[in-house]
Amino acid sequence: MKYMKKSFSSMKPYHSELILDGIILNANESPVEPPKKVVEEIKNALSAIEFNRYPDMDEKELNLAIAKHYGICKENVTVGVGSDELLDVMFRATLEVGDTVLGFSPSFSMYQVFTELVGAKYIPIYGDENYIFHVEDMIKAIKEYTPKLVLICSPNNPTGQYLNERDVRRIIESTHALVALDLAYIDFAIEDYTKIALEYDNVISFKTFSKALALPSIRLGYAISNKDNIDMLNAIKAPYSVTTFTQLAGIIAISNFDLYKDQIDSIKEERERIYHTLKDLGYKVYPSEANFLYVLMDDSKNDALLENKIYIRKFKSGVYRITIGKKEENDKLLEVLK
Ligand code: PMP
Repeated sequence: MKYMKKSFSSMKPYHSELILDGIILNANESPVEPPKKVVEEIKNALSAIEFNRYPDMDEKELNLAIAKHYGICKENVTVGVGSDELLDVMFRATLEVGDTVLGFSPSFSMYQVFTELVGAKYIPIYGDENYIFHVEDMIKAIKEYTPKLVLICSPNNPTGQYLNERDVRRIIESTHALVALDLAYIDFAIEDYTKIALEYDNVISFKTFSKALALPSIRLGYAISNKDNIDMLNAIKAPYSVTTFTQLAGIIAISNFDLYKDQIDSIKEERERIYHTLKDLGYKVYPSEANFLYVLMDDSKNDALLENKIYIRKFKSGVYRITIGKKEENDKLLEVLK
C-alpha cells in the first residue's frame, strides 16, 4: 500500500470470510431466501431491464415504496449501496478533522473505520461487566465531550442489546449533535421506532435490506430523516450507485413485507430456543433482540464446531457471535455445544 496516505497506513480491509459449504452462522444473514413470491417477482423483473440505460438516479419508485411502507413522504427517504454507503456518506457530510464521535462499545466495527477516514476521534462508551449499555453513561459522556455525532445501534451488533424507544429519545433529547440510529436488526425486535427520526431535527435512522428482508446480495440500505438531512446525504452520494436491478428488487421486497412475517417470527423463536438451551448448558449468553446471540465460550468449543463445518464469528479468544440459522442447523450447533 505504498501510495496510501500515512494516516491510513494501519487500516485493513473489512473482512468476513465467504464460506460456501457447511453451516454458515457467521455473518448475520437470513438462513433462508426471501418468500417465494418475492424471489419469483425479482427474477421476472430482470427481463424488464434496459441494460444499456443508467438507473433512475433519484430512485423515485423505490423511495416511494419505502415511504409507503412507513406511511411517510418519499422526500424523507434516500437509498444507498447497503446502509454502509449511507453511513459513510453521513460521516463525510457531517464531520471535520478533529471532531468527536460517541458510540457504545463493542458495536459495529465500521463506525470506527468511517470515523478514522474523516480524521475524527471515536470515543467508545463501554457497557458494564455484562456488556449492558447504560443510557446515563451516554448522556454523561455527551455532556463531557460535546460530540458532533452520536451513534446508536439498536439492537446492537454484536451484543444484541435493544434500547427501547424511551431510552433512545432520552439520548436524542440530551444533545444538539446529530444522532444516527442504526436499526439494521430492529425488525427482529419488540418494536420498530425507525419513524421517530422524523420528529427531530437531529436524527437519521438507517435500515437495510440485508437482514430481515434476506437480500444482502442486492446491496441496498436506506435512511429516513427530515428533508434537510436527506438532501444533505443526497448531495454527496455517488450518482447512480444503486443499480436498476437493485431498485426493482427493493420495491418488490418492501412492498411484500407482510409475507416475511413467518420467517422473521421463526428466527425470533429459534433465537429464544438457542438462548435458553445455551443458558441451561451453562454458557454465558446475552439477551438479544436481533438475529444473533453473543456468547462467551471456550475456544475448544469453536474448534469442535469447525470440525463439524459449523462457522460462527469469533471476535477474540472466548468471545463469539452466533447467527440464528434454520432449525435443523441450530439443532446441529446445539448438539456440538452440548
Ligand atoms: N449496521 C450494522 C449494525 C450492521 O451489522 C451492518 C452489516 N453487518 C450494517 C450496518 C451494514 O449493512 P448493509 O451495508 O448490508 O446494509
